Amino acid sequence: MKGDMYIARAADKDILKRGENGGVVTSLLKFALESKRVDAVVAVKAREGNRYDGIPVLITEPEKVLETAGSLHSSSPNIARLLTEYLDGASNLKLAVVVKPCDARAIIELAKRTQINLDNLLLIGLNCTGTLPSVKAKTMMKEIFEVDPAEVVGEDIEDNVLTITLKDGSEKKEDLAKLEEQGYGRRENCRRCEINIPVMADIACGKWGTTNKETTFIETCSEKGAQFIQSAVDGGCITVEEPSTASINDRKKKDQAAIELAKQWQDKDFSGLEKMSTEERFSHWFAQFGQCIKCYGCRDACPICYCKDCFLEADRGYITPGEIPPDVMFPMVRVAHVMDSCVNCGQCEDVCTMDVPISLLVFLLNKKMSDIFKYEPGMDVTKLPPLRTTTDQELKLTGVDISFDF
Ligand code: SF4
Ligand code: SF4
Ligand code: SF4
Repeated sequence: MKGDMYIARAADKDILKRGENGGVVTSLLKFALESKRVDAVVAVKAREGNRYDGIPVLITEPEKVLETAGSLHSSSPNIARLLTEYLDGASNLKLAVVVKPCDARAIIELAKRTQINLDNLLLIGLNCTGTLPSVKAKTMMKEIFEVDPAEVVGEDIEDNVLTITLKDGSEKKEDLAKLEEQGYGRRENCRRCEINIPVMADIACGKWGTTNKETTFIETCSEKGAQFIQSAVDGGCITVEEPSTASINDRKKKDQAAIELAKQWQDKDFSGLEKMSTEERFSHWFAQFGQCIKCYGCRDACPICYCKDCFLEADRGYITPGEIPPDVMFPMVRVAHVMDSCVNCGQCEDVCTMDVPISLLVFLLNKKMSDIFKYEPGMDVTKLPPLRTTTDQELKLTGVDISFDF
């Protein structure tokens, strides 16, 4: 049932050898296809010989699932957008999808907007404490770790240490906080991210709570997830045992430590802004928006920006065509449209050629809105975003003040 926890490992010896942490995720994906619970699997694999370039793949043959074994820390493909753009929001196919917490949250927000059919999805969530920007990661391997990036076969983030594994089996470690002070390490949105265990997915898989590298800790987060795990156990795909209280506590402790670290990054990111007067804050953000070249990249990448007929298109007449820098209403409208539902995936900032810190601003606004409305985007499909559910009249009645600075 929902909430069950297991320590699991693959039953298949080949998967056990090739997969990470006991090959559990690979085994579950293979089982989902073999048992015909899904038509296809959506996962990520490294481009041939380049683990810094993860590409999403749609797999229908069980044997091919092995190609996706192992984690890629320098890859953050836009899984939710992929489902809506290329797979009709899973309206025709039953899919098992491997997701990080931000992917799962975006999928849930899109399901609320009827852009994705959750009934056709099995969300297999992976714990996540951050992904590395791929180009910077390669530079970091050369400059800081002093290795050829092509020699790296694995990365791991644990207890604020980034460990890399090389082809010869040796390991090198660096303090993550120090790397991040030097401009390397995780993507900026990931540093602020407090959602490490994908409890909004159907199952959450990760190494926290395990005592060796040959097992995965699984939590079933929905009835669908629980039934799937039960059938995977009954079908002989994985072997499981009950986690000890120490394992469960260790997992909680690691999650809490990652949340604390994220809060420290939020304090760092926001402290300069908090010290500014309202006028200074406006000047600051307008100067940032002034760098925008209206390439529409952030809008096209944002999973929450789902409108087919966007108000910001030139032919709608709201924003003057060709004008660079665009009227300040261009970023303002986009920010206003997504701020109650932003899932902090960072896709907008990843694509921005002008380094406009969009995800920082939307995160900041979303935090303030979440505090007021007690709404956390992407955590519960039954809860609608506040701007969809709250009328002016209701606000007046409750006396809630929704004015805040950015
Ligand atoms: S935003 Fe959070 S869940 Fe998404 S990649 Fe970064 S750390 Fe992982
Ligand atoms: S605004 Fe940026 S960080 Fe927020 S959901 Fe959209 S792409 Fe992700
Ligand atoms: S991606 Fe950057 S430059 Fe392009 S429209 Fe968005 S903010 Fe402007």
